Amino acid sequence: MIAEGERKHVVIMGAGPAGLTAAYELLKRDVAVTVVEKDPTQVGGLARTVEHKGYRFDIGGHRFFSKNDEVEGLWSEILGSEMLNRGRLSRIYYRGRFFAYPIKAANALWNLGPIEAVLCLASYARARLQPVKNPKTLEDWVRNQFGWRLFNIFFKTYTEKVWGISTRELSADWAAQRIKSLDLWVVLRSALLPPRKSTSRGAIITTLIDKFRYPRLGPGQMWERVAEISEAKGHPVLLGRSVEKIRHEGGLVRSIATKTPDGRIETHEGTHFVSSIPIRELVARLDPAAPDRVRKAADSLSYRDFISVALMIDRANVFPDNWIYIHDPGVRVGRIQNFKNWSPDMVPDSGKTCLGLEYFCFEGDGLWTMPDNDLVELATQELDRLGMCSPGEVFDGVVVRQQKAYPVYDDRYQDNVAVVRDHLATALPNLYLAGRNGMHKYNNQDHSMMTALLVARNIATGSLLDPWKVNADAVYHEDVRAGERDLGGRLVPERIPAS
Ligand SMILES: Cc1cc2nc3c(=O)[nH]c(=O)nc-3n(C[C@H](O)[C@H](O)[C@H](O)COP(=O)(O)OP(=O)(O)OC[C@H]3O[C@@H](n4cnc5c(N)ncnc54)[C@H](O)[C@@H]3O)c2cc1C
Repeated sequence: MIAEGERKHVVIMGAGPAGLTAAYELLKRDVAVTVVEKDPTQVGGLARTVEHKGYRFDIGGHRFFSKNDEVEGLWSEILGSEMLNRGRLSRIYYRGRFFAYPIKAANALWNLGPIEAVLCLASYARARLQPVKNPKTLEDWVRNQFGWRLFNIFFKTYTEKVWGISTRELSADWAAQRIKSLDLWVVLRSALLPPRKSTSRGAIITTLIDKFRYPRLGPGQMWERVAEISEAKGHPVLLGRSVEKIRHEGGLVRSIATKTPDGRIETHEGTHFVSSIPIRELVARLDPAAPDRVRKAADSLSYRDFISVALMIDRANVFPDNWIYIHDPGVRVGRIQNFKNWSPDMVPDSGKTCLGLEYFCFEGDGLWTMPDNDLVELATQELDRLGMCSPGEVFDGVVVRQQKAYPVYDDRYQDNVAVVRDHLATALPNLYLAGRNGMHKYNNQDHSMMTALLVARNIATGSLLDPWKVNADAVYHEDVRAGERDLGGRLVPERIPAS
């Protein structure tokens, strides 16, 4: 692909976990890299840590856990003793009460109080006696298993807040696969009878749920360290460079053009190119343009966006959880993070607290376009309504808007991704895709990192490892067939396919 004797030089688009992992691996193998990042001030992408007057917060709390030992090993290699081991506490808040998460039957019924508990059991009995036949929607499926009242409390509001779609329009498949044979009777029985002997897989899953690792100064610390290592090796990440054009000729990408915030255009040449930027943006920037059907497929990919409102509170302890799911329908906030419970060093003063109130939205909707002051006011009022703290205790607030936080899995996305993937693989074989939006996969850092490691190895050694065969646990499975449904993807609720 490159002329004999020509030194490899890899241009990497995006300095999130995927782009920086690719750079880290390539530099270890003495391959030169140029990393360009559109953010003018920091690296880390969705896993960056924002700082405001000494208060540090994530774009959504980022747990570090993986079933992939290589990824776990890399995190230790990069940050060493700066990686903390943390216990997890996260509960559900509903109508003034906290429920254990994962849900425990006895705790849930006790918390609901005797009257509501009886009503929930009656509603479950009715659902068993008169189930919806062949349930197609998420709503009908969960109602059949748990009854209408429990569905309303524990499934409906939060799912709708996160995905912005009514549970009547979501397909039953997700629940049927995620919670398979679970129903209220199974949950109650397991609460009342002694637990069965746990399998080793069960033990691993429990451990992953109860404990996780976390950098002392938040996830951004990991990626800032990798950027430092890259700079020390003579390859500083180029911040404030937004990819504008990906120029190709003769079946290979030759260079990319980036634009700085002050409008300067720069050209970066290379022998190989790695993209961790969203597929939709990548295809739109190809020059000459991709064929119509490829552009159409890329344009059809969609995303869910996200706002985090960080509020600084003049109180040492607001609640003990790392985060709380807010199922209460009376407020718009979906989840609340308490960053000092992730690491005490996320706040500059242990007498204060920094909470991150998370709002799921679409770019351009009412929440997204709300002025920052109004969002801070909304978050402050909602905390008050939830009884967590009074407005007088909130002394500062910051808003972070995050575009394309979640790649959306609609009923066409797999076909659309396949059109782009197959076209690029044959038309531009020196352009490699990696990462979350880079591959349109709703996955955690470990998955993004593993895809980047494989891509880096392919470039450095000429191996032919297929990053599309990394599964949702970030494990590479050679024997999986390319194009298989849900390949490497975490399960998420999907709209009912149009018939
Ligand atoms: C709310 C939330 C909570 C999460 N929680 C966890 C968790 O607990 N644990 C976990 O492991 N993972 C978690 N994740 C997932 C994790 O953030 C991602 O898997 C990871 O950040 C993906 O890395 P990436 O490099 O592929 O993509 P990104 O992090 O999206 O990085 C892509 C980079 O490309 C840059 N870019 C985009 N367009 C351009 C352009 N045109 N030119 C130049 N640069 C560009 C972006 O600015 C960004 O820096 C969470 C994500 C979210 C949104």
